[in-house]
Formats: sequence, structure tokens, C-alpha cells
Amino acid sequence: MLRFHNTLTGQLEEFRPMREGEAAFYYCGPTVWDFGHIGNFRSAIAADVLRRYLKFKGYKVTHVMNITDVEDRIIAKSQEAKLSIDEYTAKYIAALWEDADALGLERPDIVPRATRHIPEMVELIEKLLQNNHAYKSDGSIYYRISSFPDYGKLSKINFAGNIVGGSERIKTDKYEKEDARDFALWKEPASETEPAWDAAIGRGRPGWHIECSAMSMKYLGETFDIHMGGVDLIFPHHENEIAQSEGATGKRFVRYWLHIEHLKVEGETMSKSKGNYYTFRDLAAKGYSPLGLRYFLLSVPYRKQLNFTFDAVRGAEKTVESLRDFQARLSEAKPEAGMNEELHEATMRALAEFEAGMDDDLNTSVALAAVHNLTREVNTALARRRLRADNQRELLDLIKRFDSVLNIFGDEQRQMVDSEVQTLIDERQEARRRREFARGDEIRDQLAQRGIILEDTKDGVRWKRR
Ligand code: AMP
Ligand code: ZN
Repeated sequence: MLRFHNTLTGQLEEFRPMREGEAAFYYCGPTVWDFGHIGNFRSAIAADVLRRYLKFKGYKVTHVMNITDVEDRIIAKSQEAKLSIDEYTAKYIAALWEDADALGLERPDIVPRATRHIPEMVELIEKLLQNNHAYKSDGSIYYRISSFPDYGKLSKINFAGNIVGGSERIKTDKYEKEDARDFALWKEPASETEPAWDAAIGRGRPGWHIECSAMSMKYLGETFDIHMGGVDLIFPHHENEIAQSEGATGKRFVRYWLHIEHLKVEGETMSKSKGNYYTFRDLAAKGYSPLGLRYFLLSVPYRKQLNFTFDAVRGAEKTVESLRDFQARLSEAKPEAGMNEELHEATMRALAEFEAGMDDDLNTSVALAAVHNLTREVNTALARRRLRADNQRELLDLIKRFDSVLNIFGDEQRQMVDSEVQTLIDERQEARRRREFARGDEIRDQLAQRGIILEDTKDGVRWKRR
């Protein structure tokens, strides 16, 4: 039985999707004003593991990840660079996919961009204006929090006593609001040059929160299964999404709220504003492997904080290498026919442990422990020549199944980083020099299997990815 910790109820709950056999979720994706840091990728990997495990369990999955491509920093940066929003964000969106591919993330099924959904946001704001959950002030539009008594139900923040009377006007920055807690749904442009859209509600641009309400409901319906994001989003972002969506539809918005704990550096959240961050690119340039990073980032259950250290990433790389070695040794073994019953039982036990761990709110460390226990048993069996052909087949299949969720063994070509390719090419050249042509061909085939094509030219070996 698959269970999730639901932030809304504070309970571990059995997952019962709205539609039998189908699971839909929305993950609050990146703001593309800069390269993503590996804290962002911890969250994206958690969403990827959720997606993959739902598929493992047999669900038909719809995974939506938004791209926030209009907000204050993007506007400021694009204006500085004298570029349009689209021109400015194109670079970071391209980088996002490169990083995501390298880290073994499956592409979400739907990736809506905020700037492409302005009419949907306007429509939602119109509804909120009609039913008194929103009001206009100075050309901007705000959500009236006092109109939504459930406000605070997700974050459990008690706002009683904090409410400022509706008649009292508060001037914060350039905005005029009825209540300090009220938040902007639609912002009047501060200047002529600021990007803005013409709409029946006035010329302006959307606030950040309305974007996720409008896009999630467009693709997943007014009520949907799972909403996921980092813990920093519980308040105010997700609290505001609930107020907007439920205010507009009168229906429950999301059934399971899942929040990912942060990646920390020396006890502090990794973030751009703190300056204590590494992008994936920074680490790849220092020679860290994407596979090792992915392992590190998913080695701890998503609801536990994870501390970043270079040693920990190096450790994860070693672990991944040993797993890959193990898989190679297992597939290269030439066992006798038959099945060793004891090893068969150990294999089934590993599957049960893996599934029990993942069913328990996606506990990846239990799942990984199941993988490591199994490798230990198989290593012993290999050393004692107890592996049989049926075991070999069953084990290789099981590793594939595990990897359909974890994606750490690195079968796919993406995991072949340039330096690995070069090492193998050097080894092949060396073999050929020693006239060990069979070995040379073996290396060529091995590379081909992983999507690397070699070309022998008079200037040496060139290679490319298929
Ligand atoms: P952003 O690009 O800031 O909108 O964030 C994209 C995603 O990364 C959101 O789901 C955030 O909650 C998440 N996030 C931001 N910082 C961290 C961190 N240090 N660790 C884990 N997730 C984070
Ligand atoms: Zn969001």
C-alpha cells in the first residue's frame, strides 16, 4: 500500500487517486532567471522519483511541471540585458533541460510556461473579483484573505489577531492593500517599459501564485491528486494557491500535498540569495559525475534535510561505481543452467524490501539498502559459484526494475560522461597497439551500446553521441 505524508493533514495517508489506475501531479518548477542550483535539483529529482515510482506501481501518470518565466528578477535581469523576456529566459530553459537530462530526469508530460497562460490567469482573477475574493486597488488586484476563512490550513500558521481591519489601508512599498497579508494577483506595471499584458482587468502582469493555480487546474482539473514542491513553498505560495483555487471553484484543490526538505550547506538552506550554492554546471566542471550527484541527492528520503559536502558527493560516486561494477560482473558471468533457490529467495526479499521502503512515503534510503543488501548476497553467491542462469536473468531484470525508479546504475548513454568515453577510447587504442583486436572491438561495442559512435580517422579517433 502506497502512503504519502500529507502536509495538509500532517498524517501518513494511503494514496487513493481520483481515477482508478491514474495518478496526476503538479510540481512547482523553476524560476528561470538563472541556472538551477543543486538544491533545486534535489526537489526536481524527488518529483522524478515520485513519477517513476507511480509508474512502477502501474499507474498511468500525468506529471506537470511549470516554468516561471515572468517575475521581478526576470524582468529586472532581462531589462538590464536589453532582451525580451523570451530572449532572456531561452538560455536558462535550454540549460535546465541539459542539466535535467544529465541528471537522469524523465521529462514531465506537460511543461506549461507562465507567459503562455496569461488568459487562463486573467479568467481566474475575474472569477475571484466576481465572488468578492479579490479587489482592485491602484490598478493592481489583490486577494482578500479575510474572505477565505480556511486561510492557513496548510501551513498551520494562526493568523488570528493578525488581521487588520478592512477599513484600514496599508501602504507597503508601492502597493496599497486592505490588509497586510493580502497578496497581488495582478500587478500594474511600474513603468512604461515594464513587460505587461492588456486584459479586461487592466494592463498588467500576473503575480507568481496565480500562475500555479491557473496552470495546474487547466491541465489537471479543479481537484487533482498530488501537488509537490520544496518546503519553502508551503507558505505563502501553496497557501495562496489554495485560497485562489478553492476561492474560485468552491471545491477542494489538492488531495495530497508533498513537500521536499531542503538541501543545506553547513546547516543553512542552499539558495541564490545566501550565495552558498552550487549549480549542477559548477560541479560537473569540477569533475563530479551526474550519476554520483543524482545518487547523493536521492540517498535520503525527501522529507529529511540533506547536507551538502564534497566528501558526501565523492562517496556517492564511489558507491555508484561499485554498483555499476557489480552489474557488469553479474551480466558477464557465465553460470550453469538452473536456479539456486536460496538466491532466488534473496532476490524476492530484496524486491519486497524495496517496495516496502518506497511505499512508505518514498523512503529511498530503505530502497537503496535493499539494493545494497542484494548486491552483497549476489557477490557472495558469485564468489562461491552459486549463481545459476535463471538467477542471473532474474537479477538483471530486477536491477532494471529498481533502476526504472532510481536510475543510478547508468545503463543509459547520458551517464557516459566525456571523461569516461575518453578513458575507454584510450584503452581501445592501447589494446590495438598491442594487437589485441578482439579487446579493441569489445570496447567499441561497449561504447556503441551506450550510444557512443567511434570514427577512426587519420588524425585519430573521433566520437559522437548517437
Ligand atoms: P525556484 O527556482 O526557486 O522557484 O525553485 C524551484 C524548486 O526548487 C521549488 O520546488 C523549490 O521549493 C525548490 N528548492 C529551492 N531551494 C531548495 C533547496 N535548497 N533544497 C531543495 N529544494 C529547493
Ligand atoms: Zn507553484
